[in-house]
Amino acid sequence: MLTTLRRIVLEFSQAAELDPALLRLVVQVKKALSSQCCSVYFADHNKQHFLLMASDGLAEDAFGRTSIGFTEGLVGLVGQREEPINIANAQQHPDFIHAPEVEEDKYKAFLGTPIIHQRKVLGVLTVQQEQARSFTENEEAFLVTLSVQLAAAMASLEAQGLMRLYGSSQSAIKTHKGIGGAPGVAIGEMVVVHPMADLATIAVAKEQNTHQQLSRFNEAVQSTLVDFTVMGGKLKSITSDSSLDIFEVYKQLLESDSFKTEVLHKIQQGWNAESALKLIVDGYVIQFEALDDDYIRERASDIKDLGNRLLENLQNLKVQEQKLPEKFVLVAEEVTASMIADYQHQGLLGIVSLNGSNNSHTAILAKALNIPAIMGVEYVFIRRFHRKEVILDGYSCQLHVAPSEALVNEYQHILLAETELQAQVNKVAHLPTLTLDGHNVKLLVNSGLSSGFEFSHNVGAEGVGLYRTEIPFMNRSCFPSELEQTALYRQVLESFPNQPVTMRTLDVGGDKSLPYFPITEANPFLGWRGIRITLDHPEIFLVQIRAMIKANIGLDNLAIMLPMISSISEVDDAIRLINQAYFELSTELSITETNKLVKPKVGVMVEVPSIIFQLEDLADKVDFFSVGSNDLTQYLLAVDRNNTRVANLYDFYHPSVLRALNYIAQKSTTRNMPLSICGELANEPTGALLLMAMGYKNLSMSAHSLAKVKWVIRHVEFSVIEDILTKVLTLTNASKVHRYMHQQLVQLGLEDFVHVRH
Ligand code: PEP
Ligand code: MG
Repeated sequence: MLTTLRRIVLEFSQAAELDPALLRLVVQVKKALSSQCCSVYFADHNKQHFLLMASDGLAEDAFGRTSIGFTEGLVGLVGQREEPINIANAQQHPDFIHAPEVEEDKYKAFLGTPIIHQRKVLGVLTVQQEQARSFTENEEAFLVTLSVQLAAAMASLEAQGLMRLYGSSQSAIKTHKGIGGAPGVAIGEMVVVHPMADLATIAVAKEQNTHQQLSRFNEAVQSTLVDFTVMGGKLKSITSDSSLDIFEVYKQLLESDSFKTEVLHKIQQGWNAESALKLIVDGYVIQFEALDDDYIRERASDIKDLGNRLLENLQNLKVQEQKLPEKFVLVAEEVTASMIADYQHQGLLGIVSLNGSNNSHTAILAKALNIPAIMGVEYVFIRRFHRKEVILDGYSCQLHVAPSEALVNEYQHILLAETELQAQVNKVAHLPTLTLDGHNVKLLVNSGLSSGFEFSHNVGAEGVGLYRTEIPFMNRSCFPSELEQTALYRQVLESFPNQPVTMRTLDVGGDKSLPYFPITEANPFLGWRGIRITLDHPEIFLVQIRAMIKANIGLDNLAIMLPMISSISEVDDAIRLINQAYFELSTELSITETNKLVKPKVGVMVEVPSIIFQLEDLADKVDFFSVGSNDLTQYLLAVDRNNTRVANLYDFYHPSVLRALNYIAQKSTTRNMPLSICGELANEPTGALLLMAMGYKNLSMSAHSLAKVKWVIRHVEFSVIEDILTKVLTLTNASKVHRYMHQQLVQLGLEDFVHVRH
């Protein structure tokens, strides 16, 4: 049953044309359940009805013509209730509607399941039978499972504009929705980048030029054979055990007539080379995985690997041809920080990442570089984007593909207004950060995500509130030496003479990995991350601390911050190592240097909820607290900050997050503990105001947000934001907070600084 189910879903999701795919679907389901009729209806939300799209058992003339209102009939009932309905004799049911044109009077038994994607009913799947009987539990379970799996495939078709409804006014969907990565607007051409070949990401498509596709595939086969010979050669130099030479096996498979001929045959049927390859490989994989034999099941992964290697060669041919336009929007399945670094100076206007979420480090980097970005644009056929014009709206999180001239003009105005606003706020960059009634706060910058960028901008910061040290560890093949680290940290400390620079010790793990230190875990954000790694590897921690202390000689503006602290013993251990490093240096260095050696202040990041309830204990041990609201939100709400599916649940303005932030401020004030915040919340004018009212005295943010935040602070009275905070802390959900804050900023004449959340 499972194999049947997977085959049905796979065939459907590979559809290049909708009508034949739907027909095939209903025929297969009817057969699988040995029923007499199977039908599929699509929901048209504009017209508030379900339209019969295909059926094996109902009148063909009714396809695309017969509709049932959302509140009518049994199909309507399935949609309304959002659950399966299993009725032994449908004709006796009060909701049954007699519709002679569909010719269903002969059927009595009815089973219908809704097809729901992300809480939206996309359609209804039904099976019917002449004999009055309830469908069995197994049959119901099959239809439910199938509907759940079909939902994602349908959503994908919908996004590709393939799920157009008969007679519907809907045109092919050209606007795609995502999650905000970084605010701003970009207008330009899209360039799709494939970092690694993966057949799973290929949406099949047809291509008219069969001849060209055949030769592309043949060339890819030849290149792949060469690759395998080279790889096999390398393997032989390591082991003489020829049974381990998987590449020989791959070569045989690739040269075998059946595999190659099958792909070529698919290309002759009109599929492009990538699609043909995917269809054949997927077919083999399903067959192999369905078998009981372990050995053969293993071959499924071999054939997937082989397919991906072939795909790599197919796509490489394209990448080599790729010449970047002067300005472009980068699109990839998963845009990584290193991709941004690669393209940053080549005309990168905006970023579209199909995966990822609003607080992934990619998004934070985009914000820091002021590059508008949209994440989590799911269910799109990425290759269709290549070289298309686009408007990327990082505020409303929309992507308008091939926009009309009128829309482009509208967005050109927005871009102009943005430039004007930035020019306006830049004027206050060097003025003090004071409210209208004279209350002051310190604005600092977050730095380190991209080497050197932030320092080139003199934005009026009063120091660095967070220097992330991970990036210099990332783009390399081994850990940086103490000497290299010292030189780098010195450069940073010198850029802010007489201003505090808070350096965070290495915070890898989670979504930041080092190529030469791979960590594979089921739940990386709950795993070996930050201080947990560095305490387990004092040799890494000590070198970093020594480099920081040495870099600080004669400058004396360093503070050290510990990430991911979840218990007091971690702080004790870290302080012991910091003392050890300091002691070692004081015995190793020259007398002149030793005289200038200072023990830096040490603080902790408050970003794991457990530590909130030990702030008193911590206060005895460290010099300052700095709240990492990005992780604090993730851990308080149990929402992975990188996961697109739950991105709508990740919200800094969730009452529990705000109340936790307020509690931390109160505790710190009682203990007279210097407190700052370095999460993304401080970048938002609304967030900055609330934090200030709570008592945060140091707000650290990306360089690009600083002037805006300063401008807003200079245009409010502290007493007013205190009142706003009092009200906000009584609100019971995040959307109420957003609405209320929006109203308040409008009333304060600061509407240019709030963008409606979507
Ligand atoms: C945070 O968690 O809020 C933070 C500032 O650190 P990062 O985003 O690097 O985890
Ligand atoms: Mg963090």
